[in-house]
Formats: sequence, C-alpha cells, structure tokens
Amino acid sequence: MSSDEKIKILVVDDRPENLMAIEGVLERPDLSIITATSGNEALGLVLEHTFALILLDVQMPGMDGFEVAELMRGSEKSRHIPIIFLTAISKDDTHVFTGYEKGAVDYLFKPLDPLILRSKANVFVELFQQRKKLQQSNLDLSCAVAELEVVNRQIREQQKSVIEEERLKVLLQMAGATAHELNQPLMILMGNVQLMEMDGNVPAHLAGRVSKITEAASRISDTVKKIQTLRHDQPKTYAGGKTILNLDQHVSILAIEDKDNDFSKVRQILRDHHQLALTRVKSIREAFDRIDKDSFDLIFLDYLLPDGTGLEFLEAVNSKGIETPVVVITGQGDELIASRIIQAGAYDYLPKAKVSGKALLRIISNALEKAGLKREMRMAQEKLAEMSVRDELTGMFNQRYFREALEREVSGAQRYGHGLALCMIDLDHFKRVNDSHGHLCGDRVLHEFGRLLNDSIRKYDVGCRYGGEEFAVILPDTSLDKALSLCERFRERVKEHEFTYEELTLHITASVGVAARPTGGIITGRQLVDLADKALYQAKSQGRNLVVTI
Ligand code: GH3
Ligand code: MG
Ligand code: MG
Ligand code: MG
Repeated sequence: MSSDEKIKILVVDDRPENLMAIEGVLERPDLSIITATSGNEALGLVLEHTFALILLDVQMPGMDGFEVAELMRGSEKSRHIPIIFLTAISKDDTHVFTGYEKGAVDYLFKPLDPLILRSKANVFVELFQQRKKLQQSNLDLSCAVAELEVVNRQIREQQKSVIEEERLKVLLQMAGATAHELNQPLMILMGNVQLMEMDGNVPAHLAGRVSKITEAASRISDTVKKIQTLRHDQPKTYAGGKTILNLDQHVSILAIEDKDNDFSKVRQILRDHHQLALTRVKSIREAFDRIDKDSFDLIFLDYLLPDGTGLEFLEAVNSKGIETPVVVITGQGDELIASRIIQAGAYDYLPKAKVSGKALLRIISNALEKAGLKREMRMAQEKLAEMSVRDELTGMFNQRYFREALEREVSGAQRYGHGLALCMIDLDHFKRVNDSHGHLCGDRVLHEFGRLLNDSIRKYDVGCRYGGEEFAVILPDTSLDKALSLCERFRERVKEHEFTYEELTLHITASVGVAARPTGGIITGRQLVDLADKALYQAKSQGRNLVVTI
C-alpha cells in the first residue's frame, strides 16, 4: 500500500516521547501516523494532508490544544476532521469541549490507556473509510447519471425515427394480416367452385357465372399475394457513438452561413470526412439558386441571414415542396426558437456553442436516416394508395375507381348540363386466346390492349379495366355521336393491331357498347352502365367487332 493510499492520523504533542508512545500504540500497516510538536506545525500539516483523525494534546507551550482546535474549526479544509483531545486535566473540565460538532470530537485522559486509544482511533478510522466509500459511490453515481443523460438524449433523438419506422411496420403488418384473413374464405370459395366443376353438373346457364367467380377469385388471390410480399427493409440501426460516426455514403451538404468564422469551424471539423462535400452560400437567395442547380442531401442553416431568418427559409422550402432535410445550426440558441424551427419542419437543431465533430456527425447521420425513412414511408403509402385504384396487369384504373369516377362525372355533367358518354368494351372470343396459347399469352394481350386503349383516349377520359377482358371508358363532356366516332376509330385500330407474344402474332377484335347522358335528361351512373352493357350485348349478338348504341 503506498503512503498516499494509507489513512493518515495526525498526532500533536509537545513531548516527543509521548508522540513515540502513541505511534507505537496506533501502528498498523494501513495507517500513516504523522506527528507535530506544536500547534503551528499541526496547522501547517492540516493544510497539506487529508487526515482521518487528529489526536491533539491540550497542554502545549504557546498555542494550547483548544486554540489549535478553534483555528482548525475556522478553516474549510479541517473543519470536519474529528479531534480527540489528549489531556491530563480532570473529567470535570469536560465542559470545555461542548460546542464542537457532535461526533467530531472526543477526549482521552493521560496517562493514555493503549486499548482505549486504539479502539477510539479505530472508530474514527472506520468512519473515515466509510465516508470515502460513500464519496466514491456518489462520484460513480453522478458519472452514471451523466452517461445515462447522454444515452437518454440519443434515445430521444432515435425515438422519433423509430416511431415513424414502427408506424410503417404496423401499416404493413396490418395489410399482411388482412391479406392473411382474406386467404381462408378465398380458399373455401375456390375449393367449392372447383368441386362444382368436378361434379360436372353445373347448369349451362350458370357456367359463365362460375367462370367469372373463378376469375374474380384468382384476382383476389393475386392481390393477396402482392400484399403479402410487400416488405419493408429494415433500416440500418445504430446503438452507440461508433456506428453513428461511420458515415460511409457520399453526402453533399449545403451550408447557408453568412459568417466566415462559423462556416470555417464547421468545415474544419468535417475536413477529414472526405465523403462529406460541403458547399457554402451566404444568403437565402443564393441558397435557392444553388438548390435549383444542384441536388443536396442535407442543408445546414444559420438562423440570422442577411436576407431573412431560418424560419423564413424553412417556410419557403416547404412551400416549394423541397424535401431536402434541413438542420439549423445557430448562435441564436434559445428553446423557443428551437421549437419553432422544428415545428417549421427542420430535422434538427444545434446551437453553435455545441458544434463538435461528434455532434455534427450524429446530426448528419440522424437527419439522413430520418429523411430516408420518410421517403420509404411515402413510397409505401403511395404504393398502397396506387394499388387500391390501379389494375396491376394493365396499369389502368380498376372497377372501384371507375365507380367513384363515374359518380363524380355524372353529377358534374348534371350540374353543368354537359354531355357524358360511357363505353363498355369487351374483347371478342378472348377465351380462345387463352385456350390456344395459354394464360400468359392472354395476359400479354390484355396488357397490350390496355396500352392501346390508354393511347387512344384523351387525357381527361377515364379508362378502366372493368374486369377480366372487359374495359370501360368514361368520356366527360362528350356527346353520343362524338363517342361513337371515337369508339369506331378505336375498334378499327384494335382490328389492325398486331398483338405479339413471343414468336406469335395475333389479331383480335373488340365489341363496344356506347351510352350517353341524354341532353337535358337525368341519368344515374348505374343506368348509364346498364345501357352501355345492353348495347355491348347487342354488339356481341350482332356478330362482334362492332360499336353499338341503344
Ligand atoms: P365473347 O366474345 O363472348 O366476349 O367471348 P370471350 O371468350 O371473350 O368471353 P368469355 O366471357 O367466355 O371469356 C372471357 C375469358 O377471358 C375467360 C377468362 O379466362 C379470360 N380472362 C379474364 N381475365 C383474364 C386475365 O386476367 N388474364 C387472362 N389470360 N385471361 C383472362
Ligand atoms: Mg448569421
Ligand atoms: Mg369477351
Ligand atoms: Mg367478357
């Protein structure tokens, strides 16, 4: 044990033989006994060392023990050191010790009893050790608290992105669960249809319906599969400072900062990170010029700029629909500004006084991760929304969308007294395509047919896949005659078109039923569909490859 680690006891007595005797009694490997022969010497030593205990002779020439104790009580460093007075005076005089802090003082009478001396000294030594331990645990505790605070802050920062991430996961899980639930009734439906077909006793007039059910079921099954295979890739997670600092992607940052010193500081800090490219502008106007020309992954924004504030910049960014994440680095560091900045859409906020390598890299990494999540989330949402209005095979609107659009157009036409036409198109003998060349060939033809139809209609017409090999087009602001001639042109185009599949070239035709809103009359969407359907039926029965209206 080095002398530094030993517990120190100060013994003060004007007679060296007393000092030696006490030293002999107290001697222990973990104790260091330091002696003084006068009050003055003792006061000097007290400033130099940290003592667990002072044994203080009362009767000394010059300054006596009480005076020494009094002076020690006056100094911050020695105020709490316990003192044991060594005195030859009688027990009746003990009143002189009152007034000292309880527990900080005791007394022993000369001649000293070695046993009592040792045991009293031990009590104080132990007390000292315990206090030291307590101080150490306090210190450990506050270190732990400080570490926890840092971790806590990091967790809070990650929480936001984790919440977004979780929302996306939940959304996809819900979609997956719904798809899973759909599967069972679907299997029952398909199983039963199969059984009916196997029995071979499906009445002829129901055969068409059965095939329609099969077809619808297989479409539902495809959608279910699609939803079930919709996956969200786990983003990279990070657990501590190290991974945060490992930014390995190339990142281009636009720093909007008018003050040279502040920009230099940031550039200096990031200079070793070659994957981070910094571009600097000094004003909002200059910033937008740059953003128009180049693309940036991240923007560092100063708050006070010559032509406006950070808030104004953020508002302009939002109104222009710019999605680049913005981090505000500002000297105007107050909580109010910070919260307004974050509300205005900034990804993060860093006071200039806290700009350090670690903070900047953490912020860059966080902002990029959040931006990535936001992008993924938006794409997933767009995909989900898109899936619910589009038909996958042809990319045309689906029947659900068709119904909504038709209602909208009918009431619009009614309100403004415009014309409105609807055509239902059905491919002729399409079953034969499947039967002769297989379902994949049929799919290819439907896809190509959809493309042809989309290509033939106007921008504001609504082209849909109504189901199977049947299509519908809503023609707003269109008279019956106009619709008939448009459809006639399309029918002709289909007839001439060469559909290809692998080595095959196919020709197909389509039948079209057209209906239009009677001028000045009232008609519902449902009635319009019925009329067009009837016309289509007639086109079929009159030999197909025809455009018919009723
Ligand atoms: P019609 O001229 O009377 O309309 O005869 P059709 O053969 O076109 O009509 P039917 O209603 O008898 O058959 C339609 C066929 O279209 C049956 C069905 O298998 C096929 N079909 C429906 N949807 C799809 C699809 O998505 N892909 C493929 N390949 N075929 C489909
Ligand atoms: Mg400034
Ligand atoms: Mg058909
Ligand atoms: Mg059909």
